[in-house]
Amino acid sequence: MVDLKISSTLIAVLVATTVVSGASLASSSSSQIGGKAQPAAGHAKPSAGHASAKSHAAPSSPKAHWGYSGAEGPAKWGDLSPAYELCKTGNQQSPVDISDTQRASMAALKVDYKATPLHVVNNGHTIQVNYGKGSVLRLGHSEYQLLQFHFHSPSENTAGGKPYDMEVHFVHKDQNGHLGVLGVFMKKGLHNVALGKIWAHLPTKAHGEMKVKDVVINGRDLLPDNHDYYRFVGSLTTPPCSEGVQWHVMKTPIEVSGGQIQAFLDIVGKNARPVQKLGHRLMIDSAHGAGASGSGASH
Ligand SMILES: [Zn+2]
Repeated sequence: MVDLKISSTLIAVLVATTVVSGASLASSSSSQIGGKAQPAAGHAKPSAGHASAKSHAAPSSPKAHWGYSGAEGPAKWGDLSPAYELCKTGNQQSPVDISDTQRASMAALKVDYKATPLHVVNNGHTIQVNYGKGSVLRLGHSEYQLLQFHFHSPSENTAGGKPYDMEVHFVHKDQNGHLGVLGVFMKKGLHNVALGKIWAHLPTKAHGEMKVKDVVINGRDLLPDNHDYYRFVGSLTTPPCSEGVQWHVMKTPIEVSGGQIQAFLDIVGKNARPVQKLGHRLMIDSAHGAGASGSGASH
């Protein structure tokens, strides 16, 4: 870990990266991220059975089809469609390993998530909870609307070279269409009550959005108490692998039970893209305020 006084140079680099890489993102990513508007077109065949939810057999649009193993696995994504080219040519790809961090005084994350009716989707790649309007994440002067959150197992980002059991990604968009993802690691431990409310309604087969009657959840309940975070620029971790995504990963994991992890794996299977090269990107360790805990990049 390198201690780094925040400097105007560092800020300039961060800002420049944000502006440049964010510009090309909005249009290409809408179908993947805007799950609410277009829930994973081509991957949510209601007739798809359990097996095809994992292997994506019988594709309706072969070019767009992808998965997590074999001929449609992560190493092949960039060849599956011209639209996915960044998956192999990009140089700011996600996920990444978080280990060589640089401490800098950063603005605190201000999470203002409201309760929302449970609208859950099994899109064949993950379990996703679509979010109603009005929940925001604030970062300095930026304000991001929460669109959806979804899960990976094992975690996609890793810390000190090791994955956690799971990771939840809260996907946001600002008013200019720039995406911001907040990642929270999940490790095996106590039963998670908030997750249990969602898991009680897990769609076992790939399906369109399911509106669960009379169940209200709040994404806030899946955050750790300590909001210290790592920050870096990256991409979507699924095709089309669009870059310019502002990533924030909380240092502190939340706990979920072994049974909860297994319930996800039984339905979705492993769905983590391998870590990508960090390259010249900065990995910032937020160090705001006094008593910022140093849980560090190890576990
Ligand atoms: Zn994700």
